[in-house]
Amino acid sequence: MSDTPIKEKKHLSIRLHIFISMIALCLGLMLVLWITGGVFLKQIYGFIKTRDIQHASTDITTNLENDKLPLLLEEISSAYDLCAKVFAFEGDDLTLVAEADFFNDCIICDNLNVSNKELLEDIYEHTKEDGGESSFPSNNESVISTKIVHSADGERAFLVVINTSTSPIPATVRTINSLLGILTVVSIIIALVVSFILAKKISSPIEKMDKDARLLKENDFSVHFEEKGPREVVDLAKTLNKATADMAEVEGIRKELIANISHDLRTPLTMISGYSEVMRDIPGENTPENMQVIIDETARLTSLVNDLLNVSKLQSGAQKLDMKKISITKTLQDTVKRYDTLINHNGYIISFEHEGEAFVLADETRLLQVAYNLINNAINYTGEDKVVIVKQEIKDDIVRISVTDTGEGISEENLPLIWDRYYKVDKVHKRAMVGTGIGLSIVKNILLLHNSRFGVSSEIGKGSTFWFEFKLYQEKDKQ
Ligand code: ADP
Repeated sequence: MSDTPIKEKKHLSIRLHIFISMIALCLGLMLVLWITGGVFLKQIYGFIKTRDIQHASTDITTNLENDKLPLLLEEISSAYDLCAKVFAFEGDDLTLVAEADFFNDCIICDNLNVSNKELLEDIYEHTKEDGGESSFPSNNESVISTKIVHSADGERAFLVVINTSTSPIPATVRTINSLLGILTVVSIIIALVVSFILAKKISSPIEKMDKDARLLKENDFSVHFEEKGPREVVDLAKTLNKATADMAEVEGIRKELIANISHDLRTPLTMISGYSEVMRDIPGENTPENMQVIIDETARLTSLVNDLLNVSKLQSGAQKLDMKKISITKTLQDTVKRYDTLINHNGYIISFEHEGEAFVLADETRLLQVAYNLINNAINYTGEDKVVIVKQEIKDDIVRISVTDTGEGISEENLPLIWDRYYKVDKVHKRAMVGTGIGLSIVKNILLLHNSRFGVSSEIGKGSTFWFEFKLYQEKDKQ
């Protein structure tokens, strides 16, 4: 076998994760901006300008016969950074209706005049051939857009000529580039600050939790995880607090169980060793009565150990049921009968009330265990009258078995807990009968395996009724 140690994979901290993600996000965004600004700026600018020309052209043509056209043309041209001229053809006459210049490199201002009638007529014809609307790119990266509109009376034809630049001026490009540079630096600084704050907010509570959780290793269950921070962290803290509380409870139960079991084991062991020594050392003490004490105490030990093994097997699922059709009535009758000696010697009144015989599909040995545990508890906890009632009731296809005593009862807060393994209401171990607090846990596990409904109702000072239900056996249940 090789001794090479397994290398533990290095994990990045949350801080570093957030930091890397934020920087990546920043750089990604900046890259998009640089590509859009640097590479596509010309195209985007051209697209926007073409749209501007269309808007301006529409605005002008709808106001051609408006008296305030010169003023409007000034406003429109200034709004869209362009120069525009409107000419009117009426018969052989050519007039300039309005003009405005808000474009530095305008090439129509000087070149298109009424004196240059031939050129204007050429443009008019060309525009007409193009369907009344046309555009000519010019050498200084600007565009000349033309449009023909007829007056309402049809006597005049207007020629609208617009000239503007379709590519960004170098100054604009330089401004955008330096702006992008500043934006990149600023966004990286913001990313650093945000990732620092975020990391502090998220990782600090987790780091604190990790520190606290280390205390658990030393069995310090007093640790409390702070329920502060983002929701997931709060949820984690809640889960850890619950787990810590459960662990503390289990630890308490474990200590208590060891104390109880040691006590329960020591009592019969003391008796056995005591009686054995007496029988060995003192002549005449080797009597059948003394021997019986040793046998009884051994039986007590055996049943205690069996109970402990049983509950472990049932809970681990190792215990399989041997399901058969059995008469639950007869099983209970026989069980109650076995308490005859107790009834005769100690004055207990254990009755079995039933009507008719009920058959169920169950594991008889396990069912006996349920009955014994419930009846034993009832005998242990019943009142001065020493009455225990076992009852069988049949309703529809269900048989309900109940074991009632007249004892102290169980308080409401303890009711859900008594089914837990090792749970004892009375923590002080003072009863004469062996009680490890696992009897009801065995009952619960057996009934769960049988898919049985079960429960308990109890009234302080009046007594308790433990019950469970089985479905009546039907021919189709045949195994
Ligand atoms: P134990 O061996 O201690 O009786 P169980 O699991 O059978 O263990 O019962 C758990 C606890 O439930 C008992 O310690 C007792 O406090 C309570 N309990 C059980 N049955 C009764 C009953 N019939 N009347 C009052 N308390 C009961």
